Amino acid sequence: MPVDAVVIGAGHNGLTCAAYLARAGRSVLVLEGSDHVGGAARSVRTFPAYDARLSAYAYLVSLLPQQVIDELGLELTLVHRRISSYTPVGDGGILVDTGDPVRTAADLGPDAQAWEDFYGMTGAVARRLFGTMTEPLRSADDVRALLGEPAWTDLVQRPLGETLERRFVSDAVRGVVLTDGLIGTFARAHGADLLANRCLLYHVIGRGTGDWDVPVGGMGAVTDALLRAAESHGAQVETSSPVTAIDADEADTVVHTADGRRVRTRQVFANVAPTVLDRLLGEDRGPAAPEGAQLKVNLLLSRLPAVKDETVTPEQAFSGTCHVNEGYQQLELAHAQAASGRIPSLPPCELYCHSLSDGSILGRGLVEAGAHTLTLFGLHMPARLFRADPDGARREALRATLASVDAVLAEPLQECLLDPTTLEVRSPLDVEASVGMPGGHIFHGDLQWPFAEDRRDVGRWGVETRHHNVFCCGAGARRGGGVSGIPGRNAAAAALGEAALQG
Ligand SMILES: Cc1cc2nc3c(=O)[nH]c(=O)nc-3n(C[C@H](O)[C@H](O)[C@H](O)COP(=O)(O)OP(=O)(O)OC[C@H]3O[C@@H](n4cnc5c(N)ncnc54)[C@H](O)[C@@H]3O)c2cc1C
Repeated sequence: MPVDAVVIGAGHNGLTCAAYLARAGRSVLVLEGSDHVGGAARSVRTFPAYDARLSAYAYLVSLLPQQVIDELGLELTLVHRRISSYTPVGDGGILVDTGDPVRTAADLGPDAQAWEDFYGMTGAVARRLFGTMTEPLRSADDVRALLGEPAWTDLVQRPLGETLERRFVSDAVRGVVLTDGLIGTFARAHGADLLANRCLLYHVIGRGTGDWDVPVGGMGAVTDALLRAAESHGAQVETSSPVTAIDADEADTVVHTADGRRVRTRQVFANVAPTVLDRLLGEDRGPAAPEGAQLKVNLLLSRLPAVKDETVTPEQAFSGTCHVNEGYQQLELAHAQAASGRIPSLPPCELYCHSLSDGSILGRGLVEAGAHTLTLFGLHMPARLFRADPDGARREALRATLASVDAVLAEPLQECLLDPTTLEVRSPLDVEASVGMPGGHIFHGDLQWPFAEDRRDVGRWGVETRHHNVFCCGAGARRGGGVSGIPGRNAAAAALGEAALQG
């Protein structure tokens, strides 16, 4: 008897898809290649000597709809961050503190009103657009009408750089806004491909607010909740079961595993990247190979470092996103240097301390000792920089990045490590090797507009493939990317019909 559904990959989207399918009464087998579930949404005891469970890759949640949490009954706590960001500028800085609008306006200076206008606009877009992410695709015209002006022109039609230069005067503020267009995306502000626009859009609409919240227990708590949901509805999840091929041309599709099994199934749901799916189908005609562009550093500290700006405490600096050397010009220069094959001389990056918002990821001893985690996400570090000499380039990227961070600190970051070993660095190639994301691309490929660009796709779900019984349920689907569960739910909706998901 064929199984109703095989899900290839137990990333958080594969688990979401499996949970919906099983909840609708389908027999579901999840085949995960590695020895653990979660993909890039995992918590790990990164430094075995210490009782600290770090979010190994993804760390903040914005795109996971409340609808998915409610429908699957996920037990999950997301904590709002009062401080959205801090950006050192010269001897001072810009603190965006949602609890202190007066200070925020003072720090934003001449850009205070423009900031309010811009985020007022993106807030309205979030409220209108986010609910459509779990509906059949609308046409571009429909979404244009939904967003209205100036949002459509400023966010979707004109290169982001034009919008930022017209709206904001300060280089630092332009840079802070631009970073949301560059996370996991190797793009220029003025790129005619509008890649930065697409990336920004996904970063400002999450959960209908654009907030980036802290998952209590770390990102592993999201995966754990999804795994529980899938298994409680009867999905069978097998780890260490890499899929090597899919025969999709038979009435019942056959999925081949590395240990020689042939699993017959009615439908296949691919949590793997589209280029990987093409390879499994023997159809290497997908999009060009994706390329990730980030450096990830996980640190465990004995104490948070002080920043040079004496008007903010380390707690204020690091409880939101701390933007380091992410000025508008600095971002453009770093992109140009990386595009010409060099590690940026002053790598732009952002830091964030999870344990300030959620101490549950640390053992009691570490909490009592005042230890903290720190996550660093470096921009403009494309995989191509690491290919010739992966170890040497990783060392150089880390050296340059630590120097970049130290430039805004009152004390060297490395002096705050719990011990010299409590620092882990991951290039895009490391992410590719450990999670299977091609090129280390954190979204499995460039983000796509969250509407149908081709009229023939209106009413579809953005998860369909050339095969009627094969669906993409991972980040590489239209409206995929990030920790969201959206493509997982949308693939189940495409296969079963929306009504089957409501039960
Ligand atoms: C460093 C980093 C930081 C990030 N930060 C954030 C963040 O803060 N917030 C956020 O929202 N997003 C973030 N992201 C992006 C986010 O993590 C991903 O977009 C998301 O986790 C993708 O989920 P997925 O389930 O679609 O795919 P994945 O997590 O890639 O899971 C795919 C699964 O498929 C498995 N697999 C691959 N090939 C096979 C095969 N042949 N057979 C069987 N199984 C296979 C893999 O082992 C993996 O478990 C970050 C990503 C990275 C790398």
